[in-house]
Amino acid sequence: MVQVIIRDVLNNEISSIIEEIFARYAVKDRIKNKRVLVKPNLLGAFPPERGVTTDPRIILEIVKKLKKYGAKEIIVGDNSGSIHFNPLKIAEVTGILEASDGCFTNLANEVIEVKVKSKYLDKLIISQIVREADYLINVPKFKTHSLTTISGAIKNMFGIIPGGRKAQLHTLSHSVKEFAELLVDIYQIRIPDLNIMDAILGMEGIGPTNGKPRIINKIIGSDNGIALDAVMATMMGLKPEAIELLQIAAARNLGEIDVSQLAIEGELEIISDYETPNNGLLQRIRKLAVPYIFNFAKVKPVVDYRKCKRCQHCVEVCPTSAMKLKNGFPEAERKKCVSCFCCEEHCPYGAIILPSWPVDLANRLIGK
Ligand code: SF4
Ligand code: SF4
Repeated sequence: MVQVIIRDVLNNEISSIIEEIFARYAVKDRIKNKRVLVKPNLLGAFPPERGVTTDPRIILEIVKKLKKYGAKEIIVGDNSGSIHFNPLKIAEVTGILEASDGCFTNLANEVIEVKVKSKYLDKLIISQIVREADYLINVPKFKTHSLTTISGAIKNMFGIIPGGRKAQLHTLSHSVKEFAELLVDIYQIRIPDLNIMDAILGMEGIGPTNGKPRIINKIIGSDNGIALDAVMATMMGLKPEAIELLQIAAARNLGEIDVSQLAIEGELEIISDYETPNNGLLQRIRKLAVPYIFNFAKVKPVVDYRKCKRCQHCVEVCPTSAMKLKNGFPEAERKKCVSCFCCEEHCPYGAIILPSWPVDLANRLIGK
C-alpha cells in the first residue's frame, strides 16, 4: 500500500517532520555520495506570505538533512514560470536562496534535449540536472490552479522545462484534458523519488498566483506524487477521480487516487469551505464541453485597468501573441487566445480576471 504522511506543523517542528519523512523513505541510505536535486515551486518573485512558492523553512530543513547524511552534491532550483526576473532574484525574494545555504542553482543554465513519449511532441528541452540527478525531491505547494483545478506534485514537475518554453507548450493541447495529458507526459520524464508538499500556507480560489492564501499548517510526504495529489485534492473537498490530471495518471498506473486505498498516517481532514476554481455547475459543464466545442467554451481573460501597472509581463508571456497593448493597456484578442491563462498566472498585480463562462458569453455578445 502506498503511504502518505500528513503532519501538523503546530504540534511538530518542521525539522522533525522532514526527519520522519526521510526516515520513512530511507533517504539517508539512498542519497549518500549521490547528486540530489531539490525542486521547489519558484513560480515567480513572490514573498513567502503570498502563498505562491514553497516555504523556505522546508527547503532549509531538507538541505540541512541532505548535508548531514552525506549527499555528494545538493542542487536546489526550479525553472520559474516568470521570464521577467533573474532566477537569482526570484530565489532571493521567495527566501529560497538563503534557505538553500549555498546550493541554489539556475536550472536554465544547462539544458538537454530528451525524447518524450507523448502524442503532442516527441522531444523536449529540459534542465540537464533533472536527467543527471541520482535522487530527486519534489517540493510542491498545496494550491489550486485555474486551468487544471489543482497544482501540486504533477504540476510542479512542469518546472523541469526552462523559461518561456512552458507557455509555448500550451498551444499544443486544445482542451484541459489534453493539457493534463501533456503534464503527465512531462511528469513521466523523471518521476520524483520523494515528494514533500508544503501545505503550511496554501492557496485557494483562482490559483496558482492570484488566489487567496489559506493557512493549513501541514506538511505532506509520500514517495508517490499521484497519491500525494489525490490526498491534497481530497483535503480541498474535491473528488480526485473528477480531476483530469489524476484520472490520466491513474489510468497509466502511476499511482493510486482512491484515498481509501492509501496508507495514510495522520489526519486526512477535509478543509471546510475551501474555494476551488471550478466549483460552479456552469464551469463544470464548460469543462465537459471543452473537447467538443473548445473554441466556443474558451474564456478570454479581461484586464482590470484599476490594478494594471502596464508592466507588459502578460504580453511577453502570451504564447500565441493574443495579448497586445491597446491604448496603453493590454487586451487579449479572442481569435488568438487559447485560454492557457499564462497571462493571469504571471501578472504580478492580480490585474487579470478570468470571467466565468456566462460573463464571457455576455462579453462575446457585446463584441468584447
Ligand atoms: S495585466 Fe498585469 S501583467 Fe499585464 S500589464 Fe497589467 S499589471 Fe502587467
Ligand atoms: S491572452 Fe492569456 S489566456 Fe489567452 S493565450 Fe495569451 S496568455 Fe493565454
